[in-house]
Parts: sequence; C-alpha cells; structure tokens
Amino acid sequence: MPSKPSTPTGVPERTSAETNHKDLISGETQRREAAVQLEQVTKARRKRYRERQREKKSKEEGSAATSIATGVGAETRALATEPPPPKPELKHAFPAISPVEVPVLPRYEFREFSRVNGGKEDTDQGLFATQKIEKGTRVISEQPILTLSAPGDQLDELMSAYQRLSKEEQTMIWNIQPASPNASAQLQDLRFIIDRLVLGLKTIILKPRTDRSESEQNKLDSMAPKVEHAMNTWRLAARWHANRSSLINLPMHERLNLPDGTPITGLFILRAHIRHSCVPNCFASFDDQRGCMNIHVTRDIKKGEELTLAAFADTNYYNNAAERAKELGAWGLTCSCEACDETNPRFVVHEGARERARARAVILNDILTRLDKSDLPDADLTNAQTLLCALMRDLKSTGCESVESVRWRNVLMDCVLPARALLVADNKHKTILWRVVLEHARECEKVARMCFGDDRVEFRALQQSREAAEATVQMFVDGVVDALEKVELKEEGED
Ligand SMILES: [Zn+2]
Repeated sequence: MPSKPSTPTGVPERTSAETNHKDLISGETQRREAAVQLEQVTKARRKRYRERQREKKSKEEGSAATSIATGVGAETRALATEPPPPKPELKHAFPAISPVEVPVLPRYEFREFSRVNGGKEDTDQGLFATQKIEKGTRVISEQPILTLSAPGDQLDELMSAYQRLSKEEQTMIWNIQPASPNASAQLQDLRFIIDRLVLGLKTIILKPRTDRSESEQNKLDSMAPKVEHAMNTWRLAARWHANRSSLINLPMHERLNLPDGTPITGLFILRAHIRHSCVPNCFASFDDQRGCMNIHVTRDIKKGEELTLAAFADTNYYNNAAERAKELGAWGLTCSCEACDETNPRFVVHEGARERARARAVILNDILTRLDKSDLPDADLTNAQTLLCALMRDLKSTGCESVESVRWRNVLMDCVLPARALLVADNKHKTILWRVVLEHARECEKVARMCFGDDRVEFRALQQSREAAEATVQMFVDGVVDALEKVELKEEGED
C-alpha cells in the first residue's frame, strides 16, 4: 500500500514553465501572488512538520506503554518525524506480499564464540560475513518463527504458540540467548514460583526411590510435570523477552483498533543471533507489508567480520560507556565494541562525540520547543542549524549514519530552514536556503535506501520529500524567482 506523499501537498501545481513565466512577469499583482505562493509552500512544510511532531509524541506515548525488548521497535520509531506508515493489513498469516521479492543470498554463517554469562564461561552463536558485503545490502529478510497478538510477555499464548512449532523450530528457539533472570519482574516471579515448587519436592527427590512413601511418590508424580512446565515457560519467556520485536509502529489508540489476532510482537531467529554493538554495522526494520524482518548492512563489511545491531537505538548514540553498560546489563548483555573497550584508541573519540551529541540535542530540543510555540529570530534559527550540522557530524563519528541522522535532518529541512526562508526578504537568499533543504533531502533518501531498501514505504516517503524539495527549488529557479527578478529589473528600468 503506497504511503501518502509526505511533502508534495502544498506545492502549487505548475502547468508549464513558460505559461507561469508569462503570467508572472505581467505585473505587480502577479508578483505579490507569487510571493504569497512561496510563503505558502514554506509555511505548509512547517505545518506538516508540526503535525508530524504531534504524531511522533502520540506514538512515543503508545510505545512507552508497550515494552519493546530490542532496538528494532526503537529504530523504526526513530523515523517518527516521517508520516506514519499505512495501517498494516496484518492478518493471522503473513504475508500479503511475497516475503522475498529481491533474492537475499546468504552472505554469512553461524560461528560459535565464548562469552561470560552471569560470571560463567558460556558459548554463543553469532553471524559472521563469509564474504565482503557492501553498504546497503539486504543481508537478511526473515519471517517470525512465532508471533503474539498482544504486547508484552503473554505466557499462556507464548507457550501455546511454541507448542504448535515443529521440533526443529523449537530447537532453534532453545539455541538463542535468554535474557538475564532479573531482566523483568515477570521473569523474577516465575523464578520464585519454580524455586518454591522445587523446594517443596527437594527432600523427596533426594531420597532413593525405595525410601519414598507412597504419598511422597504420588506427590512427586503429580508435581513433576507442573515443575517441568513452569521451567520450560520460564526458559521460553527469557528467550522471548530478550529477543522479541515490535511488528507495528502505531500509537496505542490505533493499536486498540487493530482486528483481533493481529500479530503485534514477533521472534526472529536470525535477528536474535545478531549481537549488540554500540557501533553497529547493520540496521533492522520490520516490513509490515511483507511480514519480514529486513536487515541491511550500513557500512562495508569485511569477510569474517561479525554482523552487529544496536539493541537500544534511542540512547545508544547519546549515552556514555558506563550508562550503556548499565542499560545492557539489565538485559544480561555485555559489549566490548570500540566505544565500550577503554583500551581501544577509538574509545575516547566515542565518549567525546556522544557527550557533545547529547549536549547539543538538549539545546536543540529547547530551541525546537520554543519554535513550536512561536516564531524565533534568525539568530536562534542559525544557531539551531549550526548545532544540527555539528550533531550530525558527531553521529557520523559514532558510527551512526542511519536513521538517527535522518531524524535530525528532517528537523533541519522541515522546520529550521523553512523558518529561516520565511524571515529572509530576498529571493536569492531564499533559493540558497531551499537548495540546502534539497541537499539534506537527498542525503535522507540515500540513508533510507541504505537502511530500508527502495521497496519500502519508509524509503518512498523520503524519496517524495526529496522530490518535493526539488520541485520547490525548481520553482524558485526557473519560474517564480526568475519572473520576480525580471519584474524588478523592469521596474528599475522604468525608474
Ligand atoms: Zn559497546
């Protein structure tokens, strides 16, 4: 389902450049009309930005109520300044469109590595590139192994869904890493119940069978399946909790209107095997039209390099190493990437860049909040523009050229630059500002192609945004601006 065009609304329809040209140079009235037209284009862009901000706020409120375990939901949320994706037509069974229209060739393999888990040496499996992989390549497009139609950890539904899987699929689930036992109150409660059950049976279990009384043996026989079921539920819940992904990107009030049985969260086996890094080389996003989790490579990967994703995209690029370690630890995760390893020469670069990025984001949020309420002087807007450019440089140096940079670019091209264009009087200056908008729109389109691929609504929205910026610049350059200048020259000649 194609998305609603993001920006062309408000751009006046042009007939032919020549017709417009003749009309516009005919006098002062037309000149005024043209100026009004341009103001409307700029104002429309800012209006749409404000609407999207409101939608974003609503989405964040909805998302906060749905605990999303991994970064996938968060990564998708990061695009919230874009128009909302069309309401998903998720049915009980995926997908509406073939899951893999573009063939995704396996360019990776599973490899075991040792890790320390809860103080104990353990082995885990990760995905490693078996060949050089170019930036922008879709390396994975997989359907969920199981889904739930309610947010959070619904244990009975989870267990039923698990029992419907084949033996091979069940084994795949046991091979993924669980969350730490304390990762959620629910996991802690389950552990408490199991401990109590086991404690009640401990004295019986420790006795040789021949020494047990008949009532003890009966108690053991009746309780053993319950203990086993509780333990399996706990093991499954820990894996689900650590690896589940949001399948929708809608505010809570819209989620409530989804048809019964619509999958809301899902578990993806390959995605679950990709380890976290604060400097990830991949980006994951759920394609709700095809029912697939797509994973794209966001920088060139060498043969033998491990594929990585950011578990917490919201905070990953703004928190320092100690804060990230705390956040990851709550999920039983550890990270030894170049931004976390104090002995790595790049460690200091990451710490500095993240600290600056956060400080700049705070100031920017303040300026943008004020701009939402009233118009601001050009000094504030220029300051915001400088801060945004510096922030994007910092994000780039922390290995983030993905969706987070699109979010800030959207602010620049939909809010700050149009606001500046409204303040400047001369059309040459306005044109320059719109050319800057266009450059950022092109950059966003590039990033969207890299992260999502050009078959996705997220890409099409940014492509349309670029086309709209191009149309506006074009209007200034060969239509309206040219005409206005001719009028001015004519007037000067008459003087
Ligand atoms: Zn790290």
